Amino acid sequence: MGLDQNHRVAVVTGGARGIGRAICLALAENDTHIYFNYSRSSESARETEALIKKKGGRVSSACADVSVEKEVQNFFSAVVKETGRLDVLVNNAGISKDGLLPRMKEQDWDDVIDVNLKGAFLCTRAASRQMLKQRSGRIINISSVVGLTGNPGQANYAASKAGLIGLTKSVALEYASRNITVNAVAAGLINTDMTQTISAAEKKKIAQRIPLGRIGEADDVAAVVAFLASDRAAYITGQVIHVNGGLYL
Ligand code: NAP
Repeated sequence: MGLDQNHRVAVVTGGARGIGRAICLALAENDTHIYFNYSRSSESARETEALIKKKGGRVSSACADVSVEKEVQNFFSAVVKETGRLDVLVNNAGISKDGLLPRMKEQDWDDVIDVNLKGAFLCTRAASRQMLKQRSGRIINISSVVGLTGNPGQANYAASKAGLIGLTKSVALEYASRNITVNAVAAGLINTDMTQTISAAEKKKIAQRIPLGRIGEADDVAAVVAFLASDRAAYITGQVIHVNGGLYL
């Protein structure tokens, strides 16, 4: 079965809210059965499900922490048992625990690396078992501009996002011969819960530094993910696509 045909199955991690929700909605438009997970936000998960169903899409969700191997295994086993296939994985789940390095707690380092980087490793390993059998698949990792530029106060987060780029390129090379593409989307500053701690005044200042003159929206990222997940992106692998309004050129 080709990737753009009926009954395509996509897993989006952290799909309950923010960029993950927008990705679920964008992928659902293409007659794809969406499976997403969340770790805490069950109410937001119900909202995402309702939004997809309202558009006529098919969706299922489950509580599963991407940093816990057993939960990841159970989640992906259930998807494959139910559908018999897995076409798209979007490693979107992520957290930030910012702080200047001298005061950064070891736990804050570990938590961010565990969710953002180890989580992507665990999900990629679990999903690719089925993709390797199918000899087709799309894996898309949501990285960040700070994985390339660095950012004071975000050593843990920037390291995790830079690590995702190394993971993307290595797995792209490993899986290319099996028709599985692996790409990263490096997002700039996007309006979501994650960036709500930045004051309106600070956001205005940042927007002035962005060539396109505005902070991004979750849909800006989701549109690129939907493209990378489609047959139209069949010849793109190992790439980092920047979605940042020109912030990093
Ligand atoms: P967000 O609104 O805070 O959403 C984060 C999502 O990740 C939530 O759905 C959350 O679900 C899920 N999540 C967190 N920890 C998880 C875990 N252990 N297991 C499963 N799910 C987990 O953030 P966002 O802005 O949409 O971020 C989405 C991705 O884009 C992240 O990887 C982030 O680093 C990246 N990104 C964001 C920006 C930005 O400016 N917003 C820029 C570049 C990259 P629960 O609430 O259930 O935990």
